[in-house]
Amino acid sequence: MEAQPGTTAHLLSPGETAAALGSNPDAGLTGEEAARRLAAYGPNELGTEKRVSPLVLLLAQFKNVLMLVLVVATGLSLWLGHTTEAVTIGIIMVLSAGLGFLQEYRAERALEALQRMAAPHAVVVRGGQHQRVRAAEVVPGDVMVLAAGDRVPADGRVMEGADLRVDEAPLTGESLPVDKHIRALPKGEHAVADRANMVHAATTVVHGRGRALATATGRHTEVGRIATMVQQVQAPPTPLQAKLDKVGHYLAVGALGVVLIVVVRGFTSGQPFLEMLLFGMALAVAVVPESLPAVVTVTLALGVQRMAARRAMVRKLTTVETLGSTTVICSDKTGTLTQDQMTVRQLYVGGELLELGGSGYEPKGSFLRGGAPVEPTDVARQLLTAALLASDARVRLDPETRQWTAQGDPTEGALVVAAMKAGLEAEELTRRMPRVGEIPFTSDRKRMTTLHRADGDTVAFSKGAAEVVLEGCTHVATGHGPRPPDEGTRREILAAAQDMQRHALRVLAVAERTHATTENAEREMTLLGLVGMMDPPRPEAREAIATCRLAGVRVLMITGDHPLTAQAVARELGLPRSERVATGAELSALDERALSRLVGEVDIYARVSPADKLRVVGALQAQKQVTAMTGDGVNDAPALKKADIGVAMGIKGTDVARQAASMTLADDNFATIVAAVEEGRAIYDNVQKTLMYLLSSNIGEMALMGAAALLGLPVPLTALQILYVNLVTDGLPALALSVDPHASDLMARTPTDTRGLLSRRVVSQIVMGGVWSAVVNVALFAGALISGRSLQEAMTMTFVSLVLIQFLKAYSFRSLRAHAWEKPFANRWLNLAIVAELVLLALVVHVPTLENVFGTYNLTGTDWLVILGAAATVVPVLELGKRLFR
Ligand code: ATP
Repeated sequence: MEAQPGTTAHLLSPGETAAALGSNPDAGLTGEEAARRLAAYGPNELGTEKRVSPLVLLLAQFKNVLMLVLVVATGLSLWLGHTTEAVTIGIIMVLSAGLGFLQEYRAERALEALQRMAAPHAVVVRGGQHQRVRAAEVVPGDVMVLAAGDRVPADGRVMEGADLRVDEAPLTGESLPVDKHIRALPKGEHAVADRANMVHAATTVVHGRGRALATATGRHTEVGRIATMVQQVQAPPTPLQAKLDKVGHYLAVGALGVVLIVVVRGFTSGQPFLEMLLFGMALAVAVVPESLPAVVTVTLALGVQRMAARRAMVRKLTTVETLGSTTVICSDKTGTLTQDQMTVRQLYVGGELLELGGSGYEPKGSFLRGGAPVEPTDVARQLLTAALLASDARVRLDPETRQWTAQGDPTEGALVVAAMKAGLEAEELTRRMPRVGEIPFTSDRKRMTTLHRADGDTVAFSKGAAEVVLEGCTHVATGHGPRPPDEGTRREILAAAQDMQRHALRVLAVAERTHATTENAEREMTLLGLVGMMDPPRPEAREAIATCRLAGVRVLMITGDHPLTAQAVARELGLPRSERVATGAELSALDERALSRLVGEVDIYARVSPADKLRVVGALQAQKQVTAMTGDGVNDAPALKKADIGVAMGIKGTDVARQAASMTLADDNFATIVAAVEEGRAIYDNVQKTLMYLLSSNIGEMALMGAAALLGLPVPLTALQILYVNLVTDGLPALALSVDPHASDLMARTPTDTRGLLSRRVVSQIVMGGVWSAVVNVALFAGALISGRSLQEAMTMTFVSLVLIQFLKAYSFRSLRAHAWEKPFANRWLNLAIVAELVLLALVVHVPTLENVFGTYNLTGTDWLVILGAAATVVPVLELGKRLFR
């Protein structure tokens, strides 16, 4: 790989930098050149996340203590001359490692695919065209286009900047955003933090726009240097994995106790020491649920994949767990609960109301007064001109789809379309009144103002939330020129705005002023009128809200829009408590205690700023609510980070929001959040089933071995039989349970139902299943011996019964609520696994060579019937347990 160009660009002028990098500051690199450089310099990645090779993964399976014990056991068997036993333990070991490998390999690949999907993007200029590329494809010499909310993809020399401010905290620790300029720095040493004409990878643009010429990529960036120094940190285990580790630990201690009892008793009753040691080892391996954490990881990873298929991109396994126990979802309104398909419906201009026809972004529709078509009045045209010029969105007919589409903010798209319906043309107006300045829109300011040169003067056009814009207006436009409004006019305007809001319309006020400067632009303005636009609710959001209600998940609407609009939309969506609305101003006046009370009672929050969102999350969390919060802007990042589940918008969201969030919605749709919650619950449910199955199996065996030892019976199973049950019999059904089809009542449960992996109900099922299995097996074993059967026959019957009980338990544990006989065969994988296992079992019992190896006996038909009858008793016992807990 070639060395990258030097790092002294901060001392050069923009022109010199471009020359040094062999790039054109306007047209950028050509596509071919970019491809050549990508091959020469390598991808723009830190490359710290190593891909785990399959071989390493396979070897890792042998790295756990229990596998080592098995290896020792194999050696010991060989030494004692039990060749067949040694070979069989070897085969079982390989099978078990293979199964573990297969699971982890799938999980690993699933996560890799996700990382690729979540990879950040960048906009660069290539061959004179703006292009959106994967950040990994940025090369030195690329012209990077930067805007507020973007993450800087590579280190670069700033060539152009309008109010460009960058948050460099991740790199330099500087908490305040840094202003960027384009001048060269004087010769000398400059620390990274002082290079104000450079931008750096991993930092984010928080304000303004600009262009920068990429000077270094990948490991050659400043952050790359740090990353190479710092070793990659291992992700900590998820709470679920931690909990399971703990369960596994307790079980291991219990198991070793039983092993000790069995071995000591065997030894004292005259068995050779080494034989007993070998047996003890096999027993220890068998009864410790070592595969549990792996099964959980796989289940979570596959869940992540399934969520992605439902358009929810999750970055961490923990999120999957948390999602299932979500109790509150705080959602934006615009675009998430509504379609963000804005259409202007009404104009309030010159003291009268005009209606506007048409739908979508197609610029076709007529102006109506009292239902009759009219030409737009002069004041209406004036208002639409101002609205058009103060908008950045552009509307065009897509040549391929033949659909009218808006590029940019849909609110502005609607204004542009309304202006087009009045026959106004963006190009012509911009030529006549070019924009010379702007005060940008932010969710905090709730307005946007632009300055234009017109006939030797500078005029300002402003649009935004009605009450905000109105406050800066001293005059109102009428058919006869601007007039200071009297009390009556003021009241009429407010009434008109309220009326629109009650009809669920979003209302914007539009104003202008002459002799404008950036300082005075938003004061002493003339109100041109009000615009009311419709944004229909998403039908699927309505359904999802109903689902949440059933599922005991509270939905809060948190919007920057007006309280009345918010309330009207909430009603249309069927939000349960829509009679009370709290505003951002109200929230600011409350202390933490009062706020905490309020968030317990109110579901709709309007005119809210990102800072208020942060407080709402805090108040909900103080009440132990597991909170999901949506957001899209730079300012939303703190709230997204603080929430248990930060949800970013994939379409509307900024990079900053996406990085702060734990989940991104590919379609910005509220219903997707609810789908993810359902998926999270399903995964939790399946982990629980697998857990019940495996733990109950281990407890059953421990109880059997322990009880036999205490009752003075011979050892009821051989070492190989125990290993077989745990490493062969249990593996496939456990895997099948982890992909069990969703229960139909998942979203009819309350969140508390779904919390607590090892609830009393679960533990009781595990214990009942385990203990009953031991009772049946001890009875069968003792009964066979008493009735004069040989030890080998009694052991075989116990072995087969143990395996059959496991199979039956797998079906019963498919649900804690539904009975085993309700849709018993719905899990195809489980059916397949059981059939395969039954065939194997039959071979072990009836094929002479295998009989020798496993110490089994060729059971008669009657034997099978007796065993089956005894094993089947586990079903009524478990089902009775379910009923008791209903
Ligand atoms: P949500 O928080 O539900 O997404 P929102 O989009 O209404 O709702 P903001 O984007 O914070 O929230 O907008 C707040 C207010 O600012 C809007 O009600 C509107 O009055 C005004 N507004 C929105 N977009 C623009 C814009 N492009 N130009 C001027 N004013 C705007």
